[in-house]
Amino acid sequence: MKKENITLAVEKAKFYLRDWQVLCRECAYDKEKPARCYRSFYSMTITPAGAGYALATTCWNNMFYPENKVIVREDIKSAWNSPQFKFQRRLILKGDWSFCKGACCIIEPFFHYENKLLENPDVKSAITDKKEVLPYGPKVIVVSPSHACNNECYCCYYVFMKNRREQYRLKDSLIKEIEETLIPSAENVIISGGEPFFAKESIGLINRIVSNHPDKKIAVNTNGTLLHEYGLDKIIRNNIFLTITVYGMEAKTYEAVTKRNSRDIVFGNIQGLIERGYEKMQVIFLLSERSVKDSDKFCEFIARNDSLKGIVRNNWYEGAKYWELMRKLEEKYTGISSRLKFQYQNVSLPRAICRRLYNPIHTLRYLLRK
Ligand code: SF4
Ligand code: SF4
Repeated sequence: MKKENITLAVEKAKFYLRDWQVLCRECAYDKEKPARCYRSFYSMTITPAGAGYALATTCWNNMFYPENKVIVREDIKSAWNSPQFKFQRRLILKGDWSFCKGACCIIEPFFHYENKLLENPDVKSAITDKKEVLPYGPKVIVVSPSHACNNECYCCYYVFMKNRREQYRLKDSLIKEIEETLIPSAENVIISGGEPFFAKESIGLINRIVSNHPDKKIAVNTNGTLLHEYGLDKIIRNNIFLTITVYGMEAKTYEAVTKRNSRDIVFGNIQGLIERGYEKMQVIFLLSERSVKDSDKFCEFIARNDSLKGIVRNNWYEGAKYWELMRKLEEKYTGISSRLKFQYQNVSLPRAICRRLYNPIHTLRYLLRK
């Protein structure tokens, strides 16, 4: 065997070993958390499950596993105290986060609203009094009314439903329930997608929240292509916090990832917001094998724009392939570390397989409620 092949094999073995070590912890970002994760005490993520139904879960990082998700046909509020949510709380109260084993946790790097929620009196007393059934509703709601999108990214989370996106929309009655029963008592509402400014259900929901709940903290996760159509001034007037994901810095890169030629439109919109002095936004650069060559340019772009916050996040399906590069960039741009953060994701195939192997054990525990 050639020397370089042996080196490659050793590198691969190290990579898989590291994967396994990460899998053995509940959360890859444990060290960054001030306390263990208590999401099931304050957060609910709602996303379309097909046929108009909703999938409700405590956390978007572990939502595709049977014991962590509830399929809701009606009465979305009941999911909050469903057997799955109660079981998670019971485990957490025993100091057991096994339902999250192998999840690739993404923690909001700039705003730390999670830490603040642990100080919320309702949340605090529920944890202190060891309550599984909560008398209050979720404080954070992440809702994707539709998976419809105007891009066609090769690395999309929802790539498996690429040709069936139209089926993944929440039915009107569930959106109405979310508005009437969950949003009034929530502190933060995050609208995600698909592309929220593309799907009519999402635009309708955003418009109704800003006019019916002007004091609500509302955030939208967007690809930035339609901000000008929604109206930059309208966004600013309504204090909508934007998380804009960009897929490259050059037009060619953009097209290679999204199959659309929208680079100039997206950066035109970002520039328009910067020129208006709008600071309630952050820009995520999705680092993938098709955009990796633009990663340094993105960091420079953030460095040049003093008011802008940026995040470099790798495509989780590609595992830790670019983590080394990310670490180097993190070091190079350490001078702007308060405005430029790095999120290391890993949902590569070996990791997904390991998790599949582990998962039935937890599903059995859930069925036995042990
Ligand atoms: S998977 Fe979600 S609920 Fe579990 S530890 Fe990670 S962030 Fe928290
Ligand atoms: S913009 Fe986002 S939702 Fe749309 S295809 Fe790309 S990754 Fe998927």
